[in-house]
Amino acid sequence: MFLLFLLCVCGLLLQGDAQGRAALWTGNDRSGRCQYTFTVPSPAEASCPQSGGPEVEGLKARLSLLEVLVSRLAGGGDVGGPPESPGASRAQSELQEALNRAVGERNLLQGEKERLRRELEGLQRRVEEMRRETERLRSRPPCPPQAPVVPPSPPLIRPAGGSIPMSHLMARPNRQGDSSSLRDSAWQHGSTGFQELKAEVTEVPAPDGPEEVTGCGELVSVGEPVTHRKADNIEGKYGVWMQDPESVTPYGPNMIWRIDAVGADVRQLFGYEDMVQLSKGFPSKVLLLPEPLESTGATLYRGSVYYQRRRSRTLIRYDLASETIAARRDLPHAGFHGQFPYSWGGYTDIDLAVDEQGLWAVYSTSKAKGVLVISQLDPHSLEVKKSWETQIRKNSVANSFIICGKLYTVKSYAAPNTIINYMYNTKTSQGKALSIPFKNKYNYSSMIDYNLAQKKLFAWDKFHMVSYDLRLGPPQAK
Ligand code: CA
Repeated sequence: MFLLFLLCVCGLLLQGDAQGRAALWTGNDRSGRCQYTFTVPSPAEASCPQSGGPEVEGLKARLSLLEVLVSRLAGGGDVGGPPESPGASRAQSELQEALNRAVGERNLLQGEKERLRRELEGLQRRVEEMRRETERLRSRPPCPPQAPVVPPSPPLIRPAGGSIPMSHLMARPNRQGDSSSLRDSAWQHGSTGFQELKAEVTEVPAPDGPEEVTGCGELVSVGEPVTHRKADNIEGKYGVWMQDPESVTPYGPNMIWRIDAVGADVRQLFGYEDMVQLSKGFPSKVLLLPEPLESTGATLYRGSVYYQRRRSRTLIRYDLASETIAARRDLPHAGFHGQFPYSWGGYTDIDLAVDEQGLWAVYSTSKAKGVLVISQLDPHSLEVKKSWETQIRKNSVANSFIICGKLYTVKSYAAPNTIINYMYNTKTSQGKALSIPFKNKYNYSSMIDYNLAQKKLFAWDKFHMVSYDLRLGPPQAK
């Protein structure tokens, strides 16, 4: 009994000792059953640590995500973080896209910078060439003032067929006005003696040949020069303009082509739909020859431009339709780059021409000792078919043209009233002296050629594109 009492007292004492640290509650739950709740306070902590709740957890997740993105952007690669959420992936792809755009724009700007640099270099080269050309022109002998002598002109009869009426063009004032508006002082003064002396003919007398049997009439007279266009700048002081007597599509028969020939890299070829567009100065086509041209001796035939390549005796056939070089061939032994020019100079060593009988080259060789040589060329392959040596020195005449297989030479390029002083007939291999009046309207003819399409002479006279009507005699049937 005593022992039981002692146990009760101990239990009461133990309960009292635990009174401040633990508690036991009883109560009914919702279903009415008894529920015991026993609580024990923490022995060491003053209060319970608070759990963050859903908002804090979300912020933590977003912060982690941002840290991963920053690490990737800074490190440029994957840092092995946790899998990305869809929002992060979208933001990353947008950033990548913006970066790509910026790189692309930078590359474009670099390309543009490079293009401008090349353009600047080209312009600087051109300025240098112009400067050299100006120096060269200034170092030349002075050009004479011209005497105002105008001889009566013979009446003109236009040949039938192939001619294009141009009376409306003749009446049209030149857009550029008179030549005085573009004046090069190097050519405006001096005496006539030097030029005329250079242009003196040193013909070896030749017996008159038999009557012509070509079916083409001999030249009787040349009309007054008619101006169609004036070049806009120094590059057009010398030049060549031409028309295809047998045009090939896509270009029509009225198409006129023009090359300004001053400069070290002459390659631009301007095409005009007709004479009216030429006179207005509105080209419909501009082509760049693959290789530069020398001389004003280019010509046009059956859809191809034929010209002498710069600093060489190489002839080039440039096909207008495909805009490619269709043939090239050296003209055997031909002088070039000032070896055998016409009297006016200008590297006119090789002069190409087209007439009723096809394609011709007028030039000279060392073997011929500067005498004017004529060769008929195969227009497809540029091979020489046959050659003739005349009895006249090439550098003694101003220029030449071929009509019906007969070569005619002009005595002076500068005298306002000069003559066509010599004719060589390839049919008979005979030459003879002539005296047909010819006018250099602007006192500096750098190109004179027969234009078979219009049966006229085309000439380039100190910036001006001029033409001359022709009068031919009746064909000789004998
Ligand atoms: Ca010529």
